[in-house]
Amino acid sequence: MRIDEILKNKRTLSFETFPPKKGQEEDLIKTKEVLKELAKLNPDFISVTYGAGGSNSKGNVELASFIKNELNIEALAHLTGGPSTKEDIDRVALEFKKNNIENVLALRGDKPLDYNMEYCKEFKHATDLMEYLKKYDFTLAGACYPEGHIECDSLHADLEYMKLKEELGAKFFVTQIFFDNEYYYRLVSEARKVGIKSPIIPGIMPLISPKSIARTKSMCGSTIPLNYRNMLEFYMNKPKAFKELGYNYAVYQIMDLLAKGAPGIHLYVMNNVDTAKEITRRIENVIKEYF
Ligand code: FAD
Repeated sequence: MRIDEILKNKRTLSFETFPPKKGQEEDLIKTKEVLKELAKLNPDFISVTYGAGGSNSKGNVELASFIKNELNIEALAHLTGGPSTKEDIDRVALEFKKNNIENVLALRGDKPLDYNMEYCKEFKHATDLMEYLKKYDFTLAGACYPEGHIECDSLHADLEYMKLKEELGAKFFVTQIFFDNEYYYRLVSEARKVGIKSPIIPGIMPLISPKSIARTKSMCGSTIPLNYRNMLEFYMNKPKAFKELGYNYAVYQIMDLLAKGAPGIHLYVMNNVDTAKEITRRIENVIKEYF
């Protein structure tokens, strides 16, 4: 089923996962075991990332297909235009079609450290990829940024491109990670003002180790509010208490988001089954009554 159709009838719970790196394909078996465990938590869909350099497309297709055809859960396959040629995109899109994968999150992709003009040669932006993918009739989704995208001059310019994504077929959006819900509410409110109508699913990542803070900050630059930062520092040297804080803060964000009308929750669990289990256990009744 197309995810935009699911969103018309209910709130969605979803998990983000990633395929093994190129050259570590034997890890696909382990990742499938992870996916089987995640499936037991009854998500509405599971998304699979696509390597920034386009390196692990095989793993992306194989896992999205496994989710859809073996686990009978909707798959949201990410696809990045930046590192790809039209031939690459056609090859992967045809694989998606062959495997009955209907939902695609169309992205530009993170610029690699060795970024040069070759990157983004054929698909400068996610919008170019969306335009190109029209012929395949996927349900398209787009990424959006509660704090504005790091390369964008203003939130308003960013919103104009978000609107363009909707005009080019994006049926829903998934946000970048954020730790201050006010940024999400501002994004939704400003998006509605410029006429964007599609559901905007908030993306939540529980910080469960000090290492994950550094990784998250460098990857997406999301602001950590002062009161949360103080707590993170206080519990820094006590791993179990630190984890507890990460789970509880994510649960607090989720409870607040649902109370204010979020159309679903996308959990950046990044193949961590324990995180997915902990969060869903802590909001078990909320899931029963509000999803
Ligand atoms: P774009 O929409 O192209 O935006 C990039 C910048 O260009 C923004 O500043 C935007 O305002 C501007 N812009 C957009 N359209 C235009 C236009 N038409 N003309 C001029 N300027 C424009 N990365 C991966 O490599 N693999 C993944 O699987 C992956 N999954 C992600 C999932 C989610 C939910 C999110 C939020 C991000 C994900 N990323 C992933 C990271 C993402 O690729 C980066 O954030 C990247 O820098 C931007 O991708 P985008 O699709 O938003 O790009």
